[in-house]
Amino acid sequence: MGKTCGEIIAVLEELAPPALAEEGDRIGLQFGRADQAVDRLLLCLDVTPAVVEEAAQQGAQMLVTHHPPLGRPLTSLEEDRPDAALAAALVRRGLAVYVLHTNWDRAPAGVNACLARALGLSEVEPLAEAEEGFFYKLVTFVPQGYEDQVRQALAEAGAGVIGAYSHCSFQTAGTGTFKPLPGASPFIGSEGQLEHVEEFRLEMLLPRYRLARVLQALRRAHPYEEVAFDVYPLANRPAGAGLGAVGNLASAMTLGDFAGRVKEALGVSPVRLVGDPARPVRRVAVCGGSGGTLLKAAQKKRAEVLVTGDLKYHQALEARALGLAVIDAGHGATERVSLPSLARALEAALPELEVRLSTVEGEPWRYW
Ligand SMILES: [Zn+2]
Repeated sequence: MGKTCGEIIAVLEELAPPALAEEGDRIGLQFGRADQAVDRLLLCLDVTPAVVEEAAQQGAQMLVTHHPPLGRPLTSLEEDRPDAALAAALVRRGLAVYVLHTNWDRAPAGVNACLARALGLSEVEPLAEAEEGFFYKLVTFVPQGYEDQVRQALAEAGAGVIGAYSHCSFQTAGTGTFKPLPGASPFIGSEGQLEHVEEFRLEMLLPRYRLARVLQALRRAHPYEEVAFDVYPLANRPAGAGLGAVGNLASAMTLGDFAGRVKEALGVSPVRLVGDPARPVRRVAVCGGSGGTLLKAAQKKRAEVLVTGDLKYHQALEARALGLAVIDAGHGATERVSLPSLARALEAALPELEVRLSTVEGEPWRYW
């Protein structure tokens, strides 16, 4: 007894809200249908031919991947092209593919939270804040006596959650007016007559990615033929979400010893170092994937070392000039560390589902 893709996606969207994704990032369902049945899924960083083969051999119906398999638009499905061959293989196997990328990087329990935990950091906070535009405020006007049913419907659709509290709303009493025009079938009043109705102004916060669902619930629960509502974008930022993370080691250690801890925690060897292995470090910034653009942010948060991947030559020079140590442990390893915790979260929310981690993927190069 499995689940549908759509039910799995609803859980993934709670863990990694789509609204956290970078503009233009190709997240979401890239292959398959929301109503497709799934009883086994495979988690991976990249959808490669080997991973597609692995999914088929394991009898999985869905892949959840960090990096989007389809980047550039496909202009042909001629299978001499590797990307077209991959797409064709996915379709032939009937595999659904869901992408959670920069939204998982930035989620409060995402890549960087997992990386920070694996390295033993405490007092962890985002290295750089998430952008504005995550939250909307919905304001609607409800005839008195119907406020509870509308509030309940909006809450069930995902509005009114603040931290560990649901059904958060504010209501103020006032008077609404309207005049039904010819052709209207008003809930209160009659055609051509100006009505004054005692109403509540009901306001609730909601994440941007819930808007369509919340408005649908509003229209269903509200008694009026024409529902009056306003949606305001807010400057509030989601707590705990942002780029990278920064935290503290329990006690200072040398950069060399800390690099040893990184290698052990991430299962990689060797790592590249910027900085003197003998220098002490205690405050640590992390950014899974490639965080070479966060050197100044790390310095601003008083980090002594940044753990990331894909550091470029000029970024290494810049880090050295800033006096910031860097441990480059590889793009894949600094992200792959988050997959076991994603698997546990999915299994906890959907006990009928079997979640496996890809065992065939790894870094694409060798050290020779
Ligand atoms: Zn990445």
